[in-house]
Amino acid sequence: MIYDVIIIGAGSVGVPAALSFVNNGLKTLVIEKNASVGQADNKHAIGGIRATHSQKSKIKVCQRSIEIFSTWEEKYGDDIQWIQGGYTFVAYTPEHERLLKQTVELQKNYGLNIDFITPEKIKELVPGINIENLRGGTFSPEDGNASPLLSVHAFYRRALELDAEFHFKEHVQEILLQEREITGIRTNKGKYQTSIVLNAAGGEASEIMRPIGLDIPVVPDSHEAGITEPVQYFFSPMVVDIRPAIDSKWGNSKNFYFYQNKEGQIIFCLTPDPSILGTDRRETSSFLPQIAKRMIHLLPRLKNIKIRRTWRGLYPMTPDGSPIVGKVENIEGMLLAVGMCGQGYMIGPGLGDVLARLILDKTTPLDLEILSEFTLNRDFGQIEMLK
Ligand SMILES: Cc1cc2nc3c(=O)[nH]c(=O)nc-3n(C[C@H](O)[C@H](O)[C@H](O)COP(=O)(O)OP(=O)(O)OC[C@H]3O[C@@H](n4cnc5c(N)ncnc54)[C@H](O)[C@@H]3O)c2cc1C
Repeated sequence: MIYDVIIIGAGSVGVPAALSFVNNGLKTLVIEKNASVGQADNKHAIGGIRATHSQKSKIKVCQRSIEIFSTWEEKYGDDIQWIQGGYTFVAYTPEHERLLKQTVELQKNYGLNIDFITPEKIKELVPGINIENLRGGTFSPEDGNASPLLSVHAFYRRALELDAEFHFKEHVQEILLQEREITGIRTNKGKYQTSIVLNAAGGEASEIMRPIGLDIPVVPDSHEAGITEPVQYFFSPMVVDIRPAIDSKWGNSKNFYFYQNKEGQIIFCLTPDPSILGTDRRETSSFLPQIAKRMIHLLPRLKNIKIRRTWRGLYPMTPDGSPIVGKVENIEGMLLAVGMCGQGYMIGPGLGDVLARLILDKTTPLDLEILSEFTLNRDFGQIEMLK
């Protein structure tokens, strides 16, 4: 069997990419080593989706993702738990107020619907928020959230209807080349022919490339998250606190963020400081005391809500916090959609269309701009403001 394209990995990126490819008439095979879609870091994402980044390419890709997430139920009937509740980044220090106001200016120039709002307005959006030293914050009402697993399954079912093929419990072991041109892949079950391979292997993306002599700067680091029992719906935005916290007992942390999902559960996540590099996905005992303290300080009325479960997963990180997407120079037919950092769930759907046009040689001027910002050959020294 000869495929137009083979995708390695059925996660946040690989599944919506497969859907875009079959939508564009490409014969597509997805190989996934787990037993079903979304079983690596897709299901670890907490479900935040925003277009309010500080880099044009991410903004444009995520605007397309929001269009896909927000219209999915209407078009295809699956409830993916989409809520257009917005995002609010709160500012408690003059520096953060300055940083956020500066970012808002830039975001408005890209046509994003976002404002820096007063502490009173933040209080209305997040009733009960601690207003001591609160200087206001951003609010972007078009951002939202949805369920990563329900979405990836919805994309998967639609891709199957359009004849995408998925092989589960199959591990890609080698990318086959002939004179620097892709000829296929070898898995633990056999060989498949294709002239185009898309690496969408998340936290393991760099391992697969090493045998063909490509070093891609994607290093996984781990983050933890948790979910509470459901309570009556009382706030709609994703709340992001970018203050770092020093905690001599449980460990320091950078930002943390949380929102209330469609079922009333509060879902939360924290960025540890320093980063925990590696692929260990076992929960730590320090995460819950760290984040519980921070969340209750920010929103005291959370204090009696019971936590149901915590988990730990990977951000496939790049040095500058932006993904690596596009063709690989000197390896004809090799495509990358890797290094999604903490944003692969929100980036994946919007990226699918760009990748399909890249394969079909139908890229638009905007696609080319996106691909040049996400290229592997960039200077990784520029760090995105709100990575
Ligand atoms: C706690 C936490 C919270 C997060 N919250 C958010 C959020 O709110 N919003 C957001 O946008 N992002 C969030 N993320 C980040 C998001 O989960 C990742 O960026 C995203 O899942 C990466 O997508 P991916 O497709 O690259 O990787 P994955 O979804 O992990 O998919 C890669 C797939 O490739 C498969 N694979 C790897 N190697 C092989 C091989 N050799 N052969 C076959 N299959 C292979 C894996 O099994 C896996 O299924 C969060 C992450 C964590 C850990």
